[in-house]
Parts: sequence; C-alpha cells; structure tokens
Amino acid sequence: MNVKYDFLIVGAGMYGAVFAHEMNKSGKTCLIIDKRSHVAGNIHTEKVEDILVHQYGAHIFHTSNKEVWNYVNQFAEFNRYINSPIANYYGEIYNLPFNMNTFNKMWGVATPDEAKLRIQQQCKDNYVENPQNLQEQAINLVGPDIYEKLIRGYTEKQWGRSCTEIPAFIIRRLPVRFTYDNNYFKDPYQGIPIGGYTAMIERMIEGIEVKLNTDYLLEKEQWDSMADKVIYTGPIDAYFDNRFGVLEYRSLRFETEVLDTANYQGNAVVNYTDRETPYTRIIEHKHFEFGTQPKTVISREYSEEWKRGDEPYYPINDEKNNILYEKYKALAEAESNVIFGGRLGEYKYYDMDKVVEVALQKVKAVLG
Ligand code: FAD
Repeated sequence: MNVKYDFLIVGAGMYGAVFAHEMNKSGKTCLIIDKRSHVAGNIHTEKVEDILVHQYGAHIFHTSNKEVWNYVNQFAEFNRYINSPIANYYGEIYNLPFNMNTFNKMWGVATPDEAKLRIQQQCKDNYVENPQNLQEQAINLVGPDIYEKLIRGYTEKQWGRSCTEIPAFIIRRLPVRFTYDNNYFKDPYQGIPIGGYTAMIERMIEGIEVKLNTDYLLEKEQWDSMADKVIYTGPIDAYFDNRFGVLEYRSLRFETEVLDTANYQGNAVVNYTDRETPYTRIIEHKHFEFGTQPKTVISREYSEEWKRGDEPYYPINDEKNNILYEKYKALAEAESNVIFGGRLGEYKYYDMDKVVEVALQKVKAVLG
C-alpha cells in the first residue's frame, strides 16, 4: 500500500480545518476532502449583492475561552457585532433576551423591583404544582404574559407540536435579566469575522490540499488507503451504513431573497414569536457587518421535521437517539485508525468555540 498522507480529513468544517491547520503546522501531511462544493461546512458564507450570506443559518462567534478567541483571531479580524435579537409578536416588538427593556414594553414597569414584583405575582397567580408539560413549566418560571407573547408560538414552531405536548424538563430555567442589557450572550468575546467565515477557514487551511465535491463514503476504501489516519467529521451513523438505525435531527429550511431596499428590518435577527407566521425568524445578513449596500438579503428560517437525505442541523439528544449513538460510539472506538469529531461525528450540538476547543484537545492527544 502506498501511504501518501499522514492524515485524511473528511470534512472541511471548523473541526476539520482546525485539525488540519495544527497538523500541517507540526509538519504532518494532510489531505482534506468534502462532499460539498465549498469549504467551511455549516459556517460557510457566500457573497450575494456584495453581502456575506450565512448559507446554513446565522452564525455569531462568541466565547468565554480567551485561548480560543486568540486562536481564531489569528485567521480573521472580528468586528464588534453584538447579538441583540428582537421578537416580533403580531407587530409588537420586544427586546431579547428577557430584560428590563422587554418588561418595560410589556408592562410599563421602569425599575428592577417593579419588574420582579410583576413576574412574581404572575407566577404565583398561575402556579402549577408538578408541571406536566412545557407550558406549565414556562408559566411557573416567567408567568403567562411572557409565555404567551414570547415563548409559546416560537417554541411550538421549533418543535412542530403544542407546548402542552412537550415535556416540562426541556426547560429547567428561563433566564430573566433585570438590567437594560440586550446583549444575548454573556461571553466576554463576541463578533463576526470580517470578510466572512469561509475566508477565515481558507486562511486556516492555506497550503493544505483540498478536494471538494468528494464523498468519502462512496469510495471509502480507496481514501483510507491514502493515509495513516482518518479524521471523520461526517455523520457517525452513515459511516457504519446506518446498521443500527438512523440518528435523528431537527432540520431547517431557508428561503433567501434579495430585496431592493437598503434596510428591511433594522436588525440582523428578528424572531417571529406568534404561532401564525410560519417561519421562526428572519435574518437580514448585512446587519452582521453593518453593511451599507443599496440592496439587502434576508433569509426566512423554517423549522422542519428531518427525514433521511435532508440537511442534518440539530441532533435530537433524547433517550432513544442517545442510546443509538452509544452503540455507534462503541463501534467508532474500535476503529483504531479513525478519529470521529465535530457535531456530526460526535452527534452533539457544539457551538463554534467548543468545536475549536475539542479539535485542539484532540490534536494534543494525537501528537502526544
Ligand atoms: P460541519 O460544519 O457540519 O462540517 C462537517 C463537514 O463534513 C461538512 O462540510 C460536510 O459536507 C462534510 N461531510 C460530511 N459527510 C461527508 C462525507 N461522507 N464525505 C465528505 N465530506 C463529508 N455556533 C456558534 O458558535 N454560534 C452560532 O451562532 C451558531 N449558530 C448555529 C446555527 C445553526 C442553524 C446551527 C445548526 C448551528 C449553529 N452553530 C453556531 C454551530 C456551528 O454550526 C457548529 O459548531 C460548526 O459548524 C460545527 O463544525 P463541524 O466541523 O463539526 O461540522
């Protein structure tokens, strides 16, 4: 067998790119393949009307890990974008996350004490012992006003079923903030890479051979023979021919449109929290980078049931799927020449910063 590369990296997403960059830096030879026509995986950004469009959903980089922040800043300068989504409930606009601006708009209260009193009163008046579903749980935590206007419709669209049919344990707490702070994330570091995520990933993998439009699983043996070790960031169940069954996901559908207006909604992220509007949110991409282009690009985001062949977005880590995953994981551990990593390889929702963290840990472990 003519071994050519130290590592074959399946998947040019964040995990694969960090792994490849580090190994290349350590003098190892790497080949990256991806079945898509572009690098960057789900964080791919593409220019439309000179606006960077997040093709697989809005991505905001945020982290509390200074090392990770310094790491990604090697490959891109980040802008000062702060995620401050708003909610549109039948045309009424509220700030998110739930904070003093939200409470002021909802009830006219101006001080934290007034807001706390209002929430306590609402919770007390509607309290249900042993909540049996998400509706009862949410009302216990924040009261019926916030639940009705800001939680119910959005959650039902996300889950595709009524809040009374969703188990209570799904929400243990609902963070409320008694300050006028609309910054969604608590992390000290946040922003969007100037020039887009794809350019950032391209910088990470500079000098490394990449083959796109290449599905590893179609010619697995041939690819395996080309490297000492394989880093596989595709779906773990597909790797094993789905022999125990298919791991489930929640999917999304995006309807992206160019509009002949400079500013459609005045914010990057607007959640539609009523039940009637069929989409969960609209992303206006230019606001991620304070764009001043004459046109705008918006994406309506629909939450959908996933079926085989659809894009897998969010793993459904319920008991049934977790048990199934454990079976695949046991097989994966027996594959001595393959490392399974990333959101699909580990069947786990990871924010980008966590992906960087775990990929760097894996590199350390492999290099010893
Ligand atoms: P991916 O990006 O999925 O990369 C895997 C790659 O493997 C893909 O390019 C795929 O084409 C390739 N591949 C799969 N199978 C094969 C095969 N057989 N052959 C060849 N190639 C293959 N994180 C944040 O930090 N902030 C956010 O705001 C945020 N927003 C998100 C919004 C949505 C809608 C979703 C779903 C996730 C969001 N995330 C966010 C998480 C973020 O997308 C992930 O952390 C990141 O994309 C994971 O990178 P990855 O390399 O593990 O996976």
